[in-house]
Amino acid sequence: MENNMLWENFLNVLKSKISSVSFDTWFKDTKLLKQDNCKLVIQVPMTFHKKFLNDTYYDLIDEIISGLTGNSYDLEFIVEEEVIEEEKKEKEEIKDLDLNFNSNLNPRYTFANFVIGESNRFAQTAAVAVAEQPGKIYNPLFIHGKSGLGKTHLMHAIGNYVKENSEKKVLYVTSEEFIADFIGINKKIENNYDVVDYFKQKYRNIDVLLIDDIQFLGSAEKTQAEFFHTFNTLYDSNKQIIISSDRSPDDLKLLEERLRTRFRWGLTVDIYPPNFELRCKILKDKMLGHEVASLVKEEVIEYIATNCENDVRHLEGAITRLYAYAAIMGPKEINLDFAVEALKDYIGKSIYITNNITKIQKAIADYYHITIDDLKSKKRNANISYPRQVAMYLCRMTTEETIVKIGLEFGNRDHSTVLHACDKITQELKINEELKKIIEEIKNNIVN
Ligand code: ADP
Ligand code: MG
Repeated sequence: MENNMLWENFLNVLKSKISSVSFDTWFKDTKLLKQDNCKLVIQVPMTFHKKFLNDTYYDLIDEIISGLTGNSYDLEFIVEEEVIEEEKKEKEEIKDLDLNFNSNLNPRYTFANFVIGESNRFAQTAAVAVAEQPGKIYNPLFIHGKSGLGKTHLMHAIGNYVKENSEKKVLYVTSEEFIADFIGINKKIENNYDVVDYFKQKYRNIDVLLIDDIQFLGSAEKTQAEFFHTFNTLYDSNKQIIISSDRSPDDLKLLEERLRTRFRWGLTVDIYPPNFELRCKILKDKMLGHEVASLVKEEVIEYIATNCENDVRHLEGAITRLYAYAAIMGPKEINLDFAVEALKDYIGKSIYITNNITKIQKAIADYYHITIDDLKSKKRNANISYPRQVAMYLCRMTTEETIVKIGLEFGNRDHSTVLHACDKITQELKINEELKKIIEEIKNNIVN
C-alpha cells in the first residue's frame, strides 16, 4: 500500500475507535513519512506528541496497521526538525556505502519462527542448507509458490542466519528495488553519486544476494541484461544467489531464456499451501505469547484453520482481528461463538454459509479419525473414500447446498460422484442397521 493511502486508511479506522477530541488533538496533523520492511516513520507536529503517542497509542496504532497490512511494524514518531536532520544524515551515509551497508533484512523473519509441515519442508531444508553454506551447495536457490506461503519469510531467515553466523555481506531486495537501483530513480543517489558506480558497488561486492519476487523483473531488455551480468559476476565468484517467484522458472515467460537457464543450474523448490494440520500448527505458534492466548479454545483454532485455507497471511489476519476484538470485549474465554462474531466480516460470507458442509466434514473426520484434508483429497483408499461418501450423503440430506457445490467442497469433485455417493449410502441404509446408528451419532455431533 502506498504511504498516503495506508495512513489515510489507518486514520479512517482510528476515527471509529477514539473520540473526536482525542483524534483531533493527537492525530490530525500526522503523516506517514517513510515505510520499509520493518518500520513506519510518522511525522507529528510537536515533541510532546511523540511521547504521548508512544505511551498511550502505540498498541492501538500497531493493531490497526497490522490489521490493514498483515504486518507488524516498529513505529517511530518524529517532528519536523528531526526529518531535516535525518535527510542530512542520509546524504552523508550514501557517501560511504560500504561502511553503512544495509542488508534490508527484517529481523522478525527467522528459521526459529518458521513453522514446518509437509508443504514447506523441502523448501525449509534447502534454505537452511544454503544458510549454513552459502555459495557452496545449491546455487542459485530458487523458491517458488503462491503468495502468502512464506517465501519472503524464508529468504529473510537465510539472510539473518548468514549475518549472525559470519561476516558475509548480505543484501535483500525485491526485483522492483533492483530495477530502481539500476535505472537510478532511487532518490538517494540524486546528486553525489554516479548511478553506474552506485549500482556496481552495491550489487557486485556482496556475498549473498536475495532477490524477491523476480516475476516483477519485467521485460525490459536492459534490466534483464544487467541482472544477467550481476548474476554471472556473483555466480562466478561463488557468491550465493537466492531468488523467489510466484511461479516456476519455466513459467517466467517474460524472462529471457538465458536467465531461465541460469536459474535451473541450482535447486528449485516449491512451497505448497499448508494443509489443515499445518494451518492449526501455525495458528497455535503465532497465537503464543499474546496475553489472551490461554483463553483461546481449540475449536477456535479449528474454525479459523477450516475457513482460512488459502495462505498464511490469511491466518495471521484472522489472529490479528480476533485479538483486536478480544482487546475491546475482554472475554473470559475465546470460544467458537466469540470467533464467529469477531471474524464475521473477515471470513467471507460465502464461506460462512458453506459452514454447514464444513461442520459435517469436521464431524465425519473426527468420527473416523481422519482429517478434513483427507476428505478433500484425491485419496481413494476405503478408510477415506467411505467416510467421504457418508459425508457427501449427509451434506445432501441436511444442508441446502447444491450437488455441484458439495462436489466442489470435497476436492473439486464432479456432481456425478456426489450423486453416486448419495445413492450408495441410501441403498446401504436400507439394510445396514449399524450405519443408521453411526449416522445418527454423527448428526448429533454436528454442532449447530
Ligand atoms: P510470500 O513471500 O510467499 O508471499 P511471506 O513470506 O510474506 O509470503 O509470508 C506471509 C506471512 O506468513 C508472513 O508474515 C510470514 O511470517 C508468515 N508465514 C508464512 N509461512 C509461515 C510458516 N511456515 N511459519 C510461520 N509463519 C509463516
Ligand atoms: Mg513475498
